[in-house]
Amino acid sequence: MYKVALIKGDGIGPEIVDCTLMVLNRVCEKHGIDIEYETALMGGEALDAVGVPLPDETVAKCKESDAVFLGAVGGEKWDKLPGHLRPEAGLLGIRKALGLYANLRPAVMYEALKSACPLSQKSIEGGVDIMVVRELTGGIYFGERGSGGKGEDEYSFDTEKYTVKEVRRIAKRAFELAMERNRKLTSVDKANVLESSRLFRRVVSEVAEEYPMVELNHMYADNCAMQLVRSPGQFDVIVTTNMFGDILSDEASMITGSLGMLPSASLGDGRFGLYEPIHGSAPDIAGKGIANPMASILSAAMMLRHSFCETIAARDIEQAVENVLTRGCRTADLATDKNYMTSMQITKEIVKEI
Ligand code: NAD
Repeated sequence: MYKVALIKGDGIGPEIVDCTLMVLNRVCEKHGIDIEYETALMGGEALDAVGVPLPDETVAKCKESDAVFLGAVGGEKWDKLPGHLRPEAGLLGIRKALGLYANLRPAVMYEALKSACPLSQKSIEGGVDIMVVRELTGGIYFGERGSGGKGEDEYSFDTEKYTVKEVRRIAKRAFELAMERNRKLTSVDKANVLESSRLFRRVVSEVAEEYPMVELNHMYADNCAMQLVRSPGQFDVIVTTNMFGDILSDEASMITGSLGMLPSASLGDGRFGLYEPIHGSAPDIAGKGIANPMASILSAAMMLRHSFCETIAARDIEQAVENVLTRGCRTADLATDKNYMTSMQITKEIVKEI
């Protein structure tokens, strides 16, 4: 019996999580997997109910679980609140509270969605299947910062600091993933300029000695940004720092066509993780029943694979999504005409495939 803390969140969050539960129920029934769900509040719904975006009770429920599944949080209603009370503060808070230092963002190009790729068809000929592994709780987003001075001398600064321990654990995670995939790892940094990048590069190279089967190469972040557009098919796993990962994973995901298709996992030590689609709460389409639930459904597949080691069940979900797309089923964000399916209709098709 696995225990999952379920945070439906705001906007389209509850809609896509409900679709995901239908798919999970089907795949669990097929493979004899038992999951117990415990709902928890976060983001706008938590602000409305108890006045804070991340109640202690939610953190406690997550810590008692084997995994956390999240829809999305945020919305205009809470946008004017001070930073620490905004729904997104809950998001950063939960990652930190649960020690989730590795953010995995796969960017997979589905054959059926090739035409949605903004790149030339020639540059994606061999397909795209990239796993970006981004360091999530260190680096410049969490470094010392400040400001001072006056007039033209007014200044602000942010600092990037990485410890050997922080780099070693994210590097290990990336090498492990590369071992399960095509055994190619690209470590991305700015070692030609930044001291912190030189440490990053040195530690990744040290960890590489434990994984002789994995082909490691180092790449500067600016070159990587360019190579992703020139020939994304050359990448298997990319490992990088918090800020470079933030930028490059968005770039990689856009190559595949739609925000509504991309899952993510945030992992710490061991198998515990938080799983969520990469998109937000999409307030513009909330309540209309037309959100694409596939990013969320594919996040559930990541949960089965990484937290529960249920690889076959995970593959079943991914294959079902691919089959449905190949059959021409489209949600509004993917459709080229008005002939699209609602969130529920496409979910039922995915369930049928499983
Ligand atoms: P968004 O990802 O919610 O939406 C961007 C655009 O993509 C919108 O037009 C939306 O309709 C569309 N879209 C997103 N997901 C879709 C889906 N599954 N199916 C079809 N279309 C989809 O980003 P935003 O508009 O910048 O942010 C809206 C709110 O979400 C904000 O409050 C923001 O802070 C929050 N947000 C939350 C998360 C999260 O919970 N992890 C991530 C990003 C943004």
